[in-house]
Amino acid sequence: MKAVMAAAALLAASAGMAATEASGSLDGTAIIDRLEVGDQPAGAVQRYWFRAGTSVLGQPWLVPVVVIRGARPGPRLMITAGIHGDELNGIAVIHKLAQGIDPARLAGTVTLVPGLNTPGLLQSSREWAADFSRASPNLNRVMPGKEGGRDVDDYAGRLWARLIRPNADLAVDLHTQSRGTAYVMYAFASTARTRRMAELMAPDVIKMDKGEKGTVENTLTDDGVPAITLELGRPEMFDDSMIARGEAGIRNLMREQKMLEGAVTPLPPGSFVANSSESVRAPRAGWARLLVPLGSAVTKGQAVAVMTDAFGRVTDAITAPLAGRISSSFTDPRREQGGMIVRIVWWNPDPACAGGC
Ligand SMILES: [Zn+2]
Repeated sequence: MKAVMAAAALLAASAGMAATEASGSLDGTAIIDRLEVGDQPAGAVQRYWFRAGTSVLGQPWLVPVVVIRGARPGPRLMITAGIHGDELNGIAVIHKLAQGIDPARLAGTVTLVPGLNTPGLLQSSREWAADFSRASPNLNRVMPGKEGGRDVDDYAGRLWARLIRPNADLAVDLHTQSRGTAYVMYAFASTARTRRMAELMAPDVIKMDKGEKGTVENTLTDDGVPAITLELGRPEMFDDSMIARGEAGIRNLMREQKMLEGAVTPLPPGSFVANSSESVRAPRAGWARLLVPLGSAVTKGQAVAVMTDAFGRVTDAITAPLAGRISSSFTDPRREQGGMIVRIVWWNPDPACAGGC
């Protein structure tokens, strides 16, 4: 393996290309500072620790990477998860793909990253929680980062420039809702191309959304690599149903890309496509009870939750301010003032909103 990589690095260097850079090993798994899937052996699976930076203790932040390079040429698909360190279902989706895809029957290359945010995962934190002494930043708002910048920017910059961007022709970034809340299966898309990718996932809701600056999805799409964010339910757990749906969706995308054999699964009629959303929030702190299931259609004025005080007295009836679909709701009944009760999505027919409002 070392000989293969060294030969590939020489070849790439002579051609003026970046090459995979190995810099050591941990229990027999190579540590790399750069990945170039083009120099990986065809028809084989490789596992690496990608070095995304260095902690204050001088130890490397290591990110696991699985590269499955097919026996035949084809697109380079990047699947990432765990950029928010308490959002775990996507990690299980990737583990299933890593075990289940046969490189002998694959066209193209799948790069799987089951856990982008090592410090956040260690602390079950949505944020990049590397340093207790100051506020922790959101790693999914600082892409493409900056190598040589402050710690989180350097970490993001290494992920972006040495792992994600050079190896992606299309990408799916896997998430869940934040702690204390849940999503239906929910895909964000921003263009016609990424909407098609989202449809292949067969989610409950597709949200056309211009997105936020610094996310993996939007930074890739803006750089010419179509990418979607796929939200799979709740944080801090492995939910078998969501994991199975996530895996099925990605395999469907791979069939459409001719990376896997077989026909694209006919799409169920059900994805609710939205371009607008509104969060309904707790008017005061207290205990909340949901009156309608996550995923329900609601009408304007419909009661969606009731809130009580510490003594059980009803303080507020929460109603839907407009008609739509409940894409997200609380799961932890303790709601702070302003905490999210439900999020309602709907379609705004204004042509200016077609790609998200
Ligand atoms: Zn997330």
